[in-house]
Amino acid sequence: MEALTARIAARFLIGTAALLGAAVAVSAPPRLVVESPAPLAAYAREVERLDPLAFLPAMELTGLFEPGDVRVVVAAEGSALARRAPSWAVAYAVPAEGTVVLIPTRTPAWPDDGLPDVVRHEVAHVLTFRAAGGRHVPRWFDEGLAMAAGRPRVLEDDLREALAILTGPRLRFADVDGLFGGGRSDANRAYALSSAFFGDLVARHGSALPKRVLRRMAEGEPFEEAFRSATGVPFRDESAGFWRSRRSVERWLPIVTSTAAVWTAIVLLTLWAVRVARGRKRARLAEWEAAERTALQEQPLEPGLPKDAGDVDAEGDEDRKEPGEPPLVH
Ligand SMILES: [Zn+2]
Repeated sequence: MEALTARIAARFLIGTAALLGAAVAVSAPPRLVVESPAPLAAYAREVERLDPLAFLPAMELTGLFEPGDVRVVVAAEGSALARRAPSWAVAYAVPAEGTVVLIPTRTPAWPDDGLPDVVRHEVAHVLTFRAAGGRHVPRWFDEGLAMAAGRPRVLEDDLREALAILTGPRLRFADVDGLFGGGRSDANRAYALSSAFFGDLVARHGSALPKRVLRRMAEGEPFEEAFRSATGVPFRDESAGFWRSRRSVERWLPIVTSTAAVWTAIVLLTLWAVRVARGRKRARLAEWEAAERTALQEQPLEPGLPKDAGDVDAEGDEDRKEPGEPPLVH
């Protein structure tokens, strides 16, 4: 029943953060400084109108009660800023620059569901970076925290977690970080595992664990050392304990056989079928483009234009990150 424990703990965490609202209100939630091109001004206003209290879970998890300003840039599809993100990402953060970029023409998909979730998630990345004093936080920890700060867990999270754990390889968490640089299906698996592992740690060590680890990192300890001094347990053992406790069918049976889960699975299958169909269509378009490029091969490229790397496959595993790009998370 540890899955249930972890889930209840995660929900309790969000609930606790909400209850702490009155106490935290004396400090200052992050102030969003929103910029947008004129045609997207209405969307920018929606962002400005978000309730500042929505950032309390991120503040509580990171222990950052005066996080300062966060620059939010609304970017048009096709702009240089939008092109930095994979085509499936609706937003990303450049934590070192205290910046969040939103691409409103893209539709939020799991793990976010709507504008407030997206903004809370991305702002949490900026807060995590600041709470750790700019030190490198493992991506799975960063994403697990951002997902917990973005919204309460829902059934789809459990199903995706079950799928990732029961059907995927027993990955080291450093390997999970690598999956984020892959295509959409890899990234979804990485989000599911990050959330599961983060939730498991909070269930084992209490809701103050994330901010304790981040504070020690800000004081100069690398992540694994900060984890050990915050918990008394080496991080390596935690990872092994997670896989041992998670890989049992009895653990997931009550969740995956519930009526709600069956309906969610049907919806997910339908969405998957639509995505595959779209992927095939895009693959056809890519083939046509490739044929066109071959026909134009004799003509030189315009100087300064980036070389197009936009091949896609039916599973939607496009947008693999190019090496050398500035660090961003989504
Ligand atoms: Zn993220």
